[in-house]
Amino acid sequence: MTTIQDPHQSSPSELLERLRKGQVWLTRTKSVLFHMENAGVGDPLEEQFNLAFITWACYETAYRAVTGSAACIMGFECDPESPILCERCKK
Ligand SMILES: [Zn+2]
Repeated sequence: MTTIQDPHQSSPSELLERLRKGQVWLTRTKSVLFHMENAGVGDPLEEQFNLAFITWACYETAYRAVTGSAACIMGFECDPESPILCERCKK
């Protein structure tokens, strides 16, 4: 089970690390769910995915608030296959 830590308790480098790993996980899990038969509302992986999706946005907000950074979270560009893009890449 994924535990949500208060993002304000984490250092900027921890937040960045979680965001980067999180996007990789979300991208991979999106494809797993897509290929899974009978995946749907109530599936544990789907629930975990939804939770991680919401958490990712919270972490990004916290990271940008702390660092004032406007750069891409992934360093250069978010994976276009990712279900979630950072604020910079959304534009
Ligand atoms: Zn980005």
